[in-house]
Amino acid sequence: MTHIYGLTLEELEGVLVKWQEKKFHARQIFSWIYKKKADGFAAMSDLSAPLRTKLKENFYLSSIKLSCRQKSRDGTEKLLLELKDATSIEAVIIPQENRVTGCVSTQVGCKFACSFCASGMRSFRRNLSSAEIVEEVLQLRKYAPENKLTHIVFMGTGEPLDNYENVLKAVRIINSPEALRIASRRITISTAGIIPGIKRLAEEGLQIELSISLHSADDKMRSHIMPINKKYPLKELMAACKEYIAKTGRQVTFEYILIKGINSSLQDAVALCKILKGLRLCKVNLIPANTVRELSIQAPNKLEILFFKDALLKQGINVTLRKERGEDIQAACGQLRLRYEKAHSS
Ligand code: SAH
Repeated sequence: MTHIYGLTLEELEGVLVKWQEKKFHARQIFSWIYKKKADGFAAMSDLSAPLRTKLKENFYLSSIKLSCRQKSRDGTEKLLLELKDATSIEAVIIPQENRVTGCVSTQVGCKFACSFCASGMRSFRRNLSSAEIVEEVLQLRKYAPENKLTHIVFMGTGEPLDNYENVLKAVRIINSPEALRIASRRITISTAGIIPGIKRLAEEGLQIELSISLHSADDKMRSHIMPINKKYPLKELMAACKEYIAKTGRQVTFEYILIKGINSSLQDAVALCKILKGLRLCKVNLIPANTVRELSIQAPNKLEILFFKDALLKQGINVTLRKERGEDIQAACGQLRLRYEKAHSS
C-alpha cells in the first residue's frame, strides 16, 4: 500500500497507464484529494467503481491524526500530529496581515542538537516521507483561517537538507498547480548549514527561498551552540551561500536568534557585518530567542536588541526584527512535543 500524497501527477498518470486506465483520471484524483479535500476514494464519484476499488486496494490517504491544538493570543496555532508509527511531530500556523504561513517539520526529532533549540532535546527518530510532509501541509491548511495557506516554511522540527530527497519531492507536489499550488517563491527551506545540500539546491532550478540559521558569526561560538559548525564551518558556509546567490540570483536570508549573554553584543554585530560583506543579495532576520526553560535560554533586553539591529543598519545591511510569536503556547521548535512527551512518559 502506497501513501498517495507522495506521488506527483506524472507518477500517478504512470500508475493509471500501467493499469490500462486513462491518464486523465490522475487529474480527477488530484482534484479530489487536493481541491475537494476528499478523505476516501469512495467519494470520487466521477471515477468508475472498479477504478475506485483498485485505488483503494493500492493506496491510502490519511495517515496523520491530530492529537493536540493550541492557539496563542496572537493567532499563532500549533498542531501536534501523530503519525502512523505513533511518533509525533509539530506544525504551526502563523497568520499575519495578508498571509498565512505554515511551518512544517521534516523529521521526527532532530540530529543536530543546537543548544538553544528544544527539538534537539528529544533524539532523532526518523525522516518524514514526502507523503507525510504533504499530508502535514494539508493538516495545516485544514486548520488555517478559511482553510488557506499562502506560504510554507520548512522551519519546524528537523533539518530539511538532511532529508533532501523527500523534502524536495514534497516541495514539487506543494508547488504543483494540480496539487497545492503554492508558488516556490513562497516556500522557504531553512537549514542549519548543510553545505552539500545547499550546493545541490542551487542546481534544482527552483525559485525557493533559502534561509540559513546562522546565530553567530564566530566559529568558536557557533560550534559551541550549533555543533554542525564543526563539520561545516563559517568560511565554507559563506562560500556556499555566495555560490547559491550567484547561481540562482536569489537573496539568502540569515536567521539570527538573539540570545542573552551568547551572541547579542555590539562586537557580535560587528562580526556579523564582516562575514556578510562579500554577499550581494542577503538579508538578516533577527529573532529574540524564545525562552526555553529546560535550556535556560533567554532573549536580551529590548535596548540590547535595538542596538544590535542599529549596528547592522548602519553598515547598510538589510535587517528585520521578527516579533516573538506564540510565546504563550511555547511555539519555539520542539517545545510542544517536548512537553507532550514528558507528560505522557511520566
Ligand atoms: N534545521 C533547520 C530547520 C529548523 S528551523 C534550521 O536549523 O534552520 C528552526 C528555526 O527555529 C531556526 O531558525 C531556529 O534557529 C529557530 N529556533 C530554535 N530554537 C529557538 C528558540 N529558542 N527561540 C527562537 N527561535 C528558535
